[in-house]
Amino acid sequence: AEELLRKSDKLAVVGQLAAGVAHEIRNPLTSIKGFAQLLKGRFAEIDHYFDIMLSELDRIEFIMNEFLVLAKPQAVTYGRAELRDLLGDITALIETQAIINNVQIFTEFADDLPPITCEVNRLKQVFVNILKNAIEAMPDGGDLMILTEREGEDAVRVRVLDTGCGIHPDRIPKLGEPFYTTKERGTGLGLMVSSKIVKDHKGDIRFHSRMGQGTSVEVVLPISHDSRNVLSVGDVG
Ligand code: ADP
Ligand code: MG
Repeated sequence: AEELLRKSDKLAVVGQLAAGVAHEIRNPLTSIKGFAQLLKGRFAEIDHYFDIMLSELDRIEFIMNEFLVLAKPQAVTYGRAELRDLLGDITALIETQAIINNVQIFTEFADDLPPITCEVNRLKQVFVNILKNAIEAMPDGGDLMILTEREGEDAVRVRVLDTGCGIHPDRIPKLGEPFYTTKERGTGLGLMVSSKIVKDHKGDIRFHSRMGQGTSVEVVLPISHDSRNVLSVGDVG
């Protein structure tokens, strides 16, 4: 319980910082990027420095966008969505990355799942993060399985299984902590943002892993019979 408290304290602090800093940095960043794009191609000899600049600016922008998710949402619109459709969209999105990395994607979607109430774009971001992590855990290729199933009366569960490097048992509690990463170019923000979004949906995220064998990430989401009953905008953030 102490560990959990510490984690949520950290999250609150990071969230507040994120709201301010991300907004302040975004505008000057857009302007620098615009000028770099404008200058690119005009100086043949140093053109490739502009490519580096632009790709580094993209990286800053990417990190800022992850932070912005933590900022208090202006208007959160929850709607009904079919998990099958949502996951289908995401799979299409990461397909190229999977092919490049020699990863084969398998899906097994239960066809009797009721729709869930969710903020589609934010929930999509959760699965993008989880699937990207799975692919990144398999640098030499492997299998990626996405399953949906019922969990009890009131919830659905999405399981993402990979055959990657696995996570050391001691490290599992660190997942979702701000800036926890084992990657050279990692941000350690993906799972923090994802945990926050899943929590906002009154759901749960769990990890099971075996070193050298693979990892299973489970996202459990409540089925809502009446959307106002389960989630209201006031509950969020
Ligand atoms: P990042 O991907 O930028 O490192 P994340 O928050 O997405 O940040 O993930 C944090 C860390 O959790 C990763 O650096 C990695 O060590 C570990 N991790 C997450 N998912 C997996 C997975 N499927 N297999 C192995 N390790 C994982
Ligand atoms: Mg990640």
